[in-house]
Amino acid sequence: MKYIAEPFKIKMVEPLEMTTREERVAALQKAHYNAFQLEASKVYIDLQTDSGTGAMSQNQWAGIMLGDEAYSGGRSYYKLIEAGTDIFGYEYIQPVHQGRAAEKVIFPLLIQEKGQIVIANTFFDTTRAHVGLAGGRAIDNVCPEGKDTATPFDFKGNMDVAELQHLLDEHGDRVVAIVQTITNNSVGGQPVSMANLREVYAISQEHKVPVVIDAARYAENAHFIKQREKGYADVDPKDIAREMFSYGDYFTMSAKKDAIVNMGGLIGAKVQSELVNRMKSRVIPYEGYLTYGGLSGRDLEAMAVGLYEGLDENYLTYRIGQMEYLGSRLEAYGIPFQNPVGGHAVFIDAGRLLAHLPWYQYPGHALAMELYLEAGIRSCDIGSFLMDRDPFTGEEQQATAEFTRLAIPRRVYTQAHLDVVAEALKSVQERAEQVPGYRITWEPEVLRHFTSQLEPIA
Ligand SMILES: *Cc1c(COP(=O)(O)O)cnc(C)c1O
Repeated sequence: MKYIAEPFKIKMVEPLEMTTREERVAALQKAHYNAFQLEASKVYIDLQTDSGTGAMSQNQWAGIMLGDEAYSGGRSYYKLIEAGTDIFGYEYIQPVHQGRAAEKVIFPLLIQEKGQIVIANTFFDTTRAHVGLAGGRAIDNVCPEGKDTATPFDFKGNMDVAELQHLLDEHGDRVVAIVQTITNNSVGGQPVSMANLREVYAISQEHKVPVVIDAARYAENAHFIKQREKGYADVDPKDIAREMFSYGDYFTMSAKKDAIVNMGGLIGAKVQSELVNRMKSRVIPYEGYLTYGGLSGRDLEAMAVGLYEGLDENYLTYRIGQMEYLGSRLEAYGIPFQNPVGGHAVFIDAGRLLAHLPWYQYPGHALAMELYLEAGIRSCDIGSFLMDRDPFTGEEQQATAEFTRLAIPRRVYTQAHLDVVAEALKSVQERAEQVPGYRITWEPEVLRHFTSQLEPIA
């Protein structure tokens, strides 16, 4: 597959440190074989996350200089609200400092009693955590195709509609919200179709249950709909986004993804209501006054610009093209991955690539370690290492798949960087059976992947 050339040129560069294999061996030892504990300066190509790691444009940086730092009613706030209203078509747009801040404001208002249920096409971890913290029960309900890594399907992020009906019939008014995560991050950045958004919204209205769109990758999802869904080939991504959001009542958004800022988030409500007033009462103590929401005026300005840049058709073609290019190189080498690739990452099927390792030696983590040793590439495990122990039995839990995620920051790396990644994976593949598994030597009670210490198994 051809690489789609960048629709921009480079004006400022950030030098990268080149390390030797010996230096990387020492750095990993010092980090207790946990990539979160590596010094970023010792990383050559950083594919740990696409969150807040994008490169801002000249217009965003110009916006930084225009930022209005008035405590209330700043110019930059109004510019952001204008952009948000224009793109999403919602009456209430609220800046917050990042996606999880939006979740913290909204979910305790939707969940009023312990044990009430929220159903998602798949929860992102912080969203799941905020449902839990509010006393709710989070149920994942992705379509069956989303669970099958090897068989291509256009919209693996979709909600399972039949199962949704079933859950609503079974639990009745204990279901207090439905979440559509676009794109569906946890199943590999897989898109949700317009048809699925429309159908789920129709069902939600019948049952009078609000739909919350978890909108971090609204633009990448719009691009997939344009590419893959009948009737949208000639529609502008911005108009596709507007229709997507018409099938929701609220949204929470991490602007660190498709809005290409280093920090920021949004809450949206389709109509002004009493619930919106209650949201405002929570925003002020948690995030600050309504017109800055935990951000500087300059951040609001950069977000207002980024919300549009994320939807630019040429940018999106290049952006998704990077994933597809990397996927095609891996396919040529016979390296297994979640197929088709997602909008923000390529998920290597480490369970199959390192088939000699049992799941409890964390193949996804083992591959991430090996990629770092091989070429200074940082990635992360999305598999059994990421799964915490069962809180009741303390047993290790097996993930449904053992992935190593290569998340691609926006507008940061070039074709040559992606070639380095593909070739490093090929070298690891050639000596796959020599790659060691890992054991944990120390772990915290929860969210162990961030701080655990590990060692290779000799
Ligand atoms: C990143 C992300 C969040 C959380 O946003 P933060 O800005 O990291 O707090 C929520 N949902 C999805 C789908 C995400 O990708």
